[in-house]
Amino acid sequence: MFILGHVGLTCGAVHAIDREADLRFVPIFALLPDLLDKPLDLLLPGFTNGWTRTIGHSLSASAVFSLVVFLWKRKKSWPWILAYGLHLALDRMWMRDTHTLFWPFQGFSFDVPWTDEQTLRHLLDPWVGGGEIAGLLVLVALFVRGRLWNARAKRAFLATGVLAKPSGRGPDLVS
Ligand SMILES: [Zn+2]
Repeated sequence: MFILGHVGLTCGAVHAIDREADLRFVPIFALLPDLLDKPLDLLLPGFTNGWTRTIGHSLSASAVFSLVVFLWKRKKSWPWILAYGLHLALDRMWMRDTHTLFWPFQGFSFDVPWTDEQTLRHLLDPWVGGGEIAGLLVLVALFVRGRLWNARAKRAFLATGVLAKPSGRGPDLVS
């Protein structure tokens, strides 16, 4: 899955669980495994062997990330922990090969090279395209739900990360 799928579906899930959840940094953590692994592939091509889903897409990285943000943010950490874990789920890291998911327990390095055929299959996967469309629709729904075209609602969202209440009686729209 790509940017819209990860960001949209993750923000939608967090908002569905808690309407008062702070959504501001959720997109960054929804994309963090990719933000770690794509540069790693550029910096250490001998290690990644063409794989753009490596250490950041493992349960080990997810566990370390979850522990660090929990110790830092405690009860407020759950949207970020969910965002990271949901990234692995939306990428369906258990499919095809579990070497990355269980890294480093099934071998430290990525010996089998990633092939162009795998890239093509990934790009043509309906899960990926469908996920992007679904993510876009969720983002539009959140934008409309929070009335983010309204300057006051937008300011309140940027300050708190919480979307305006759909009733219009939310504290952010009361003058
Ligand atoms: Zn990914």
